[in-house]
Formats: sequence, C-alpha cells, structure tokens
Amino acid sequence: MGDIVLLISPNSLHFPILVLAIMSLGAIFSTANFLHTRQELLSQIQDSNPSLILTTSHLQDKLHNLISKPLVLIEHFISNLQPIPPNFDPLTPVNTTDTAALMYSSGTTGKSKAVVCSHANLIAMSCILRHVWGRRAGDEVYLCAVPMFHMFGFSVFVCGAPAVMATVVVMTRYSVEDVLMAVEEHRVTRLPAVPPMVIQLARAAGAARGYELGSLKEVVCSGAPLAREHMELFVDRYPGVTLSQCYGLTETCGPITLCDGVKGRFHASIGRLIPTMQAKIRDLRTGKALSHNKYGELLVRGPPLMKGYLNNQEATSLAIDEEGWLHTGDLCYIDMRGLIYVVDRIKELIKYKAYQVAPAELEEILQTHPDVHDVAVIPYPNEEAGEIPMACVVRKPGSTVEEDELISFMENKVAPYKKIRKAIFVDVIPRSPSGKILRRLIKAKVVQQQGTE
Ligand code: AMP
Repeated sequence: MGDIVLLISPNSLHFPILVLAIMSLGAIFSTANFLHTRQELLSQIQDSNPSLILTTSHLQDKLHNLISKPLVLIEHFISNLQPIPPNFDPLTPVNTTDTAALMYSSGTTGKSKAVVCSHANLIAMSCILRHVWGRRAGDEVYLCAVPMFHMFGFSVFVCGAPAVMATVVVMTRYSVEDVLMAVEEHRVTRLPAVPPMVIQLARAAGAARGYELGSLKEVVCSGAPLAREHMELFVDRYPGVTLSQCYGLTETCGPITLCDGVKGRFHASIGRLIPTMQAKIRDLRTGKALSHNKYGELLVRGPPLMKGYLNNQEATSLAIDEEGWLHTGDLCYIDMRGLIYVVDRIKELIKYKAYQVAPAELEEILQTHPDVHDVAVIPYPNEEAGEIPMACVVRKPGSTVEEDELISFMENKVAPYKKIRKAIFVDVIPRSPSGKILRRLIKAKVVQQQGTE
C-alpha cells in the first residue's frame, strides 16, 4: 500500500495491464521514458524512490548496477504468472484522494518534476473520455503509436480506451509504414497522433495509396502545435479522414479540450473544454480575466487536475494558484463559440517531436563545460520536429570552442530527443532584474537573425 512501482518499458500489451494491476493493489504507478540515459533514469529513481522497478530484458543492461532496487523483468513475471487463488481479492481499499500515479513533467519552469495524480484524477479522466467517446461503442479500433509512458498515450490508452471498450492495437515501435500497415491489417478506426506523425503521414500519401485505409475515420493530434500548412496538406491528401486536435498537459492528466473535426476540412482550434473543466484567459500584464478573442495565458481547473508536484510545494504553488487554477504557460484565446486556440507557448518548455525538453536541465549540463561562461537554451523552430533545443553560449575569455564541440559534449549525457542540435555564440545572456533568462527575447532575436529551419 503506497509503495511506488516504476515501469520502464516501450509500449506493449502488458503496459496497461500492469498499470491497472499496480493501482488495484493500492501501490503507486510511475513511469519513465525508456530512451533516457542511465544518469537521467538514476535521477528520476532517486527523486521518486520506487520500491520496485519493472522493465524488459532489452533495457536490463541500461539499469544494470544502477541502483540497489529490486528489478523484475516483465517477460519473466508474465511467464511465471500463477492462477489466481479462489478467494483472492486484488482490490486494496484506497481513498479517491490517494496518489495513484507519478508522471514526470517540467511544468512551466525548471527541471522535470513528479506530477502527483490521485485516483480521483484518473477516474475523472476515464469518466470524461467515456462520456465524450461513449457513443462510439465497442466497435472502434484505436491504434496506439504514441508512447504510453507519456500522459497523452497513458490517458487515451490506459484510461480512455478501456472505458469505452475499444479494441487497441499496440505498436511497440513507430514508423509511418508500420502505421499504414496496421491500419489496413486491423481495420483501425482512430489514430491518436503527435504533429510529426501527421506530417509524415501527409508526406507518405503516395505510399499510402498502396494500402486499404477505408476504415480510418479520424486522426486526433495532440502534444504540440500542428502548423496550418501541415493540417492543410493532411486534409488534402486524406480527404476521407477527419483531422482533429485535442490539448492537454501531464498536469491535467490527459486531454482537457477536444475538437469535433469535419471531414475534408481542418480546424485551427484545439477544440472546446471537456465536461467538468473550467477555463479563463489571464492578462499577462494585469493578471485580470480577459473576454472573448483576447490573448492571454490559459488557466484551467477541474477534477482531472493533478494534486501537485511531489515534495515540491514551491513549484506546486507556482503552478496552481489559491483559487485552484492551473497556469498552463500557454498563450491562448477563446472565441465566441467557446473554441480555444493556442497562439504561443510562454513557459520554458521545448517540445521536440512533442517530447518535453526542459531548458534548465540542458543549461545545467552545459555550464559544466570548461569553455562555457554562461548559457541559455531556447526552442528553435524546425519544420520536422516543431522545435529543436538550441544553445546560446557566452564563451569564457580566450576560449575558441565551436558549435560541434558543444554538440558532441552533450551527445551521451542526455536522451537522443534532448540533444542540442544547434549552438550559437553571443556576448551576453539577457536576464530580468531577478536573474531569470529572458528566453522569449533571445528566441525572437535569434529567429529574426537566422530565420527558421
Ligand atoms: P505535456 O505535459 O508533455 O503533455 O505538454 C503539455 C504542453 O504541450 C501544453 O502545455 C502545450 O504547450 C503543448 N500542447 C499539448 N497539446 C497541444 C496542442 N494540441 N496544440 C498546441 N500545443 C499543445
């Protein structure tokens, strides 16, 4: 009861089963990106302090001698399962406010933190998704090509799909060809996706003609912004498929807006709020609530909102104000129809192919390079990935360090998706009077000078 079990695994059929089993025993489920380096996994393990780690034999080497925690290989565990004894009651009584899961997110600032989700949060997410998707009944086939260790995949495939009794086809690894093949073979009806998948599908439209994709009704895109031209391209190439967007954060335990797409047309909105959620737009300068069609920070509250960050009251009170509103760090507006639009991201987060990259984490590592005097990591716009992490570096006096050297310095220190892919040299890093890096200012300047990729 209350023990933490960390599951480090690529997508598999066992993933949701293990998660539900862990929670039904009153234990707390946590997950980590299996692409993380040993050091990244170690710091997450030290932070959440799990009692048990479940992983696959492929990842065993990465975890070897990392920490003295009991390690169970999922393959061995599954093959040694015993029949359930007749009087076994797997359900340990828990309160709805008890913690059910710890998922990691850097929030609006700083490094990655454990998002504490209660049973009530996850039940709310399951009920809401069941309510909004319920009319689709059990004859739907969802393709799981997004990672279940991230809240988008977790909420859809662990909370939502079982709640509507949909069939789920699980892909262990993503490739656009495998997606096309899976849709044909399993008569997939819905595909939750992130923007790079939508772009790749649109570009693979020629190859897609070789597949029977008539079953596919909808592609739901989330996790990061999808550019207008990519939506247009997708809708043009797949006129029989509805493209819609949804929006959510790890901190909201899954999607909190959904958009009803229309076949053959795209909609730039992330949709309307799901039932039970409330939203308002906050003026960045005055903090006051704004009316329709005015830009400001999106604030949300409702039952799926996290309890807070684990052992981090300071970050929790920064994220959730006294009235219970979560400050999303996204610049948005709401039109007269209640449709919400994301205009920009004002928080520190970088989204590389919808994966979270925390600038503070990369800056801390770059600061350890002997030639680096000061550094700011910013999101640099990139067509394929949405954004790439770029380092703006002030060299130490006399240093002649070059971009390549800094890129290779980071190479094995972080997971592949967090790699610094561009570095430039500057005279000074602009900061606010309180010492905060003025990232948006740096980004605007860099993009103006260098254009986008
Ligand atoms: P995560 O916690 O990794 O799910 O990241 C949440 C953040 O991803 C949000 O605060 C947004 O910045 C971004 N995001 C998620 N969905 C969308 C979307 N449909 N459009 C634009 N940005 C999105």
